[in-house]
Amino acid sequence: MGEIWKGAPVAQALTERLIPRAKALTAQGVPPTLAIVRVGERPEDLSYERGALKRCETAGITVKRFHLPDTASQEELLSVIHCINEEQAIHGCLLFRPLPRHMDEKAVCESLAPAKDMDGITSGSLASVFSGTGEGYPPCTAQACVEMLHHYGCDLTGKRVVVVGRSLVVGRPLAMLLLHEHATVTLCHTRTRDLPGECRRAEVLIAAAGKANMLGTEHLSPGQLVLDVGINVDEHGHLVGDVSFAAAQDTAAAVTPVPGGVGAVTTSVLAAHVILAAERAAGR
Ligand code: NDP
Repeated sequence: MGEIWKGAPVAQALTERLIPRAKALTAQGVPPTLAIVRVGERPEDLSYERGALKRCETAGITVKRFHLPDTASQEELLSVIHCINEEQAIHGCLLFRPLPRHMDEKAVCESLAPAKDMDGITSGSLASVFSGTGEGYPPCTAQACVEMLHHYGCDLTGKRVVVVGRSLVVGRPLAMLLLHEHATVTLCHTRTRDLPGECRRAEVLIAAAGKANMLGTEHLSPGQLVLDVGINVDEHGHLVGDVSFAAAQDTAAAVTPVPGGVGAVTTSVLAAHVILAAERAAGR
C-alpha cells in the first residue's frame, strides 16, 4: 500500500516559515499586500478566493479585493489593473481566469506589471521561469508540485520525471522548475505515442491532463511517486484526479489525493510569492 501524501502539512509548513517574514515586513512599514481581482461569481473562483483569504490572514498578508460583474467592460478591468500596477502599497496580484468571452484575456494579462504577477500569467514572469533567473513568479500550481516533492524528501537530481500535460499553467512551467532541480524531464500530451510506456518509465509521475481517472494500472509501476494535479468531476459527480487513486495506492510508493493533495498547497505558494514580492519592494 503506497503512502498518501497530503497537501495540508506542506501548506502549513510553508505558511509557518512565512509568518516571521511577514511580521518583519510589517514592522518595517511594508505590510505585505495582495490584490485579488475577480470578474463574475464562478463558484470555483469564490471557493479559491476564500482559501486564499484564509491563508493570507494566517500568514500576515493583507488582501484587497476588486470584484467586477461579468458584464464589466475590458476597459474597466484594465483600469483596475492599472491602479494595482501604480499602487506601491500593493505587492502582488491574483487575477482569476478564464475571463468572460468578450475580453481579450492575453491583453488583460499582459497589462499586469510582471513584478506584481503572482501566478505566472504574464510573458515576463514565464520568461524568467524558463530562463531560471528567479526574477518572476511561476504559476502557483506548478510550484506547489515542487514544494510537495521537497517537503516529502524527494531529491529530484537525476530523477526521471514524466509530466502528462503541456499547458502554460501547469505542464510547461513545471517542466522548467523540474529541470532547474536537475531532473530528467519528459512532457507527454495527446500526441504522445506510447503514453502508458512513458508513464511506467517514470520515477516521479505528475498528471496534469484534466481527464478523470485517465491514468490507471497500465500507466503505473512499483516504487513510483505519483502527483495528481487534475481536478475533475467524474460521472457520479465526485471530485477526482487524473489518476485512479486505488490503482496508484496499490502500485506506487506514494500518491497525492484529490482533493487534499497538490491543490491544497497552491494558496501557500501564492502567499510565499506575495511575501517575496514585498521583500523585493522593501529592498531586502
Ligand atoms: P489544459 O486543458 O490546459 O491542458 C491539458 C493538457 O493535458 C494538454 O497539454 C493536453 O495535451 C494534455 N492531455 C489531455 N488529455 C490527454 C490525454 N488523453 N493524453 C495525453 N495528454 C492529454 O489543462 P490545465 O493544464 O489547465 O489543467 C490540467 C488539470 O489540472 C485540470 O484538471 C485542472 O483542473 C487542474 N488544475 C489544478 C489546479 C490547482 O490545483 N489549483 C490549478 C490549475 C489546473 P495537448 O496539449 O496535446 O492538448
